Amino acid sequence: MIFLLYFLIFMIGASFGSFLNVVIYRVPLGKSVIKPRSQCPKCEKPIYWYENIPIFSWILLRAKCANCKVKISSEYPIVESLCGFVTLFFFKDLLDLNHFHYAFFRTTIFYIFLAHFVIDLKHKILPDSLNIYLGFVLLIYSFFQFNYIHIGLGFLIGGGFPYLITWLFYKIRGQIGLGGGDIKLYAVLGLYLGPLDIMLTIFLSCFLGAVVGVFLIATKFLDRNNPIPFGPFILIVAAIQIFFPELFNQIKNIIL
Ligand SMILES: [Zn+2]
Repeated sequence: MIFLLYFLIFMIGASFGSFLNVVIYRVPLGKSVIKPRSQCPKCEKPIYWYENIPIFSWILLRAKCANCKVKISSEYPIVESLCGFVTLFFFKDLLDLNHFHYAFFRTTIFYIFLAHFVIDLKHKILPDSLNIYLGFVLLIYSFFQFNYIHIGLGFLIGGGFPYLITWLFYKIRGQIGLGGGDIKLYAVLGLYLGPLDIMLTIFLSCFLGAVVGVFLIATKFLDRNNPIPFGPFILIVAAIQIFFPELFNQIKNIIL
């Protein structure tokens, strides 16, 4: 019985993953995520509900469109499985109703993070619409958790500090450091993380980005003129801060 329940939660999560695939595909193109219904990008055949069951349809169709046989990317089942497992992980303590809202909050944040992460990897943008949704969810949750000073200062420092550094960098070196989407992402994360933790998000993500960037250039996976998107580093650090606060406190104790 419990297995059936867990499987149901996994499939609900995977269905949200299926919707995220639509978001990831359509938002960078400026298309609506609601209309029209899903269709094959090549032959434009509508995808029926039985061809759209998360993970399973991809396996049963052997990663091909039923009509024109164009290959369906493995990105789709990967996003769906990830959402299924993470939703199950956050909701595994079903009987613990005191933490239900917390599970709901973390799951929602994870979905937005994942869409942001994949879109930035593919298109090197962090869409405004996703930053706004993220800010909205974080703001609502923060109102029940923190005072106005925590929320307001977090937002101002999260947006202001990277903006200032980027501006200085541009004045001195004539180069663009961070993109506008990165700065907006820091600002909305600051609503929840507050002034101190958002400073740590900024430093740790820059540190992580620099280490990975140097490694990728040294190993010739990447050349200097084709920079990697920075959003994923911000999202990885923020995910540790939001989803694993105990682990983050240990990291904090080491660096502060
Ligand atoms: Zn097709």
